[in-house]
Amino acid sequence: MTTWDVTELPNEKCPQCGAEYKVKYKSLPLKDKDKFVCSCGNTLREWKETGMYMYEAINK
Ligand SMILES: [Zn+2]
Repeated sequence: MTTWDVTELPNEKCPQCGAEYKVKYKSLPLKDKDKFVCSCGNTLREWKETGMYMYEAINK
């Protein structure tokens, strides 16, 4: 039985278009290689680690 921990991280703002995202980090049993690209095309984060980042757009 594995419980995957989800950590809430500070919100991030895209420096290019100003969109705000709620960020969560989730531990994974395997290495994840991925990235998050803003809807404007700007790469906000790239990672290669045993976890993943989840971005959720904050609508204002
Ligand atoms: Zn953007």
